[in-house]
Amino acid sequence: MKQGTLKNELVLCGVGIHTGTEGRITVCPAPPNSGRVFEVNGTLIPARADFVVDTQRCTTLGNDGERVSTVEHLLSALFVCGVDNARIVVEGSEIPILDGSALPFLEAVRLAGVGEQCAEVVEFVLESELTFTDRDCVMRATPSEDYVLEVTTTFPNWEEGRAQRTFRFTDQVVDEYQAQIALARTFAFDYEVRWLLEQGLAKGGSLENALVITPPAQFSTPLRIEAEWCRHKILDLIGDLALLNCRPQMRVSAVCPGHRNNVSLAQRLLKQIDPDD
Ligand code: ZN
Repeated sequence: MKQGTLKNELVLCGVGIHTGTEGRITVCPAPPNSGRVFEVNGTLIPARADFVVDTQRCTTLGNDGERVSTVEHLLSALFVCGVDNARIVVEGSEIPILDGSALPFLEAVRLAGVGEQCAEVVEFVLESELTFTDRDCVMRATPSEDYVLEVTTTFPNWEEGRAQRTFRFTDQVVDEYQAQIALARTFAFDYEVRWLLEQGLAKGGSLENALVITPPAQFSTPLRIEAEWCRHKILDLIGDLALLNCRPQMRVSAVCPGHRNNVSLAQRLLKQIDPDD
């Protein structure tokens, strides 16, 4: 399979959910084997797990004093569309949240078009099981012929939130992703929102870009798809594992995943891919 990049540049603008400030990104085609790379104030920040500097509520990459946060939804859409190489020029310090899902990114990438490049994709075949736990979270990667992600959500104070969904990378992965995963929005519980604001986070959060859940069954806006919160966890997991900078062959079963453990899994796997790092 060949590497891919965009056929045309794409530009997206909007508020960042955490900083609350307007930002703008220009995603440009990039040469084979260059990977997905952010450019912030002239500094290059590779979209790789070893450049993660923060995982509180979103994934933040940094290099040489520059940072870019909330990279996961954009990276999720780029990865699924087969955009292995891209230069992402960021004005501001956060990727726009748009509607809280990956759908606007996916639509923009499909509109810009994706073209094959001459180089072969870098594949990573997991050879032995890797498991770790962190409080309620269990992350397990096992060898598999395909790339498969299974997410289970459970919440201590929301029994109805228990769900399990599986996403498999098939030949129709982009259409499947559009129908099942990309539309699922960022969510928060009502009691979390106050805490987030006190921490100086979610300054750009609104009912236009997040689903607020009041247990047991009240939603700020109607769900776009059943088990939307569980599907959003798959969206995030795809984006965070895109930080491996290759196409994996493995099955990941994640119970109660979050950015910290998604990135931790990516960092552990990256050590297997590139033991010198
Ligand atoms: Zn997310």
